[in-house]
Amino acid sequence: MRPANIYFDATRIHRYDFAPMSVVPPKFIAVRRFTDFAHSIQGELDYRLCERLLKLVSDCRGGISVDLEFNRDGQGRVLVTGAVAASVVTICQRCLEPVTVRLDSKVSLCMVATVAQANQLPDFFEPLVVDDEQVNIIDLVEDELLLELPSVAMHDSCEPPVMQGNIDGLASIRQENPFAVLRKLRV
Ligand SMILES: [Zn+2]
Repeated sequence: MRPANIYFDATRIHRYDFAPMSVVPPKFIAVRRFTDFAHSIQGELDYRLCERLLKLVSDCRGGISVDLEFNRDGQGRVLVTGAVAASVVTICQRCLEPVTVRLDSKVSLCMVATVAQANQLPDFFEPLVVDDEQVNIIDLVEDELLLELPSVAMHDSCEPPVMQGNIDGLASIRQENPFAVLRKLRV
């Protein structure tokens, strides 16, 4: 179950121009705006707006690609479908060098107001709990990427670094092996 990412003010629709060709989705979307018409967001989100993601990756090459549609189904539920993608740079857990990881998320969310409603959803929808009829689009996009981020990132092929310091350390540990004391006592 996702946490609610709820801030809402239909009048606070922001557009940023960080770079040419960059289109940033509005930060806040009012659920009630979907009552009468469908809404879509296509563009590129500046990854610097995603503070939680920034704590886990060192860079995001090419920005975050966002392609989302908001529709109501026949039962009045708001569905969020589409894709979110980014190439992020993090540290390879084998060679400890930077590694670029592609994150591709297929979005299939259904907004619900309660846990009970979430439990009634078909399996192919993930519930997005919205308790105040407002959605923070940046948080939504960031959640999708964080779910795709591998817990252990590695290059397809690389070698562990040679850690001379550790070998020296091992030698000193061996010298300090407490069993050596036992051996002396037995003599
Ligand atoms: Zn590596």
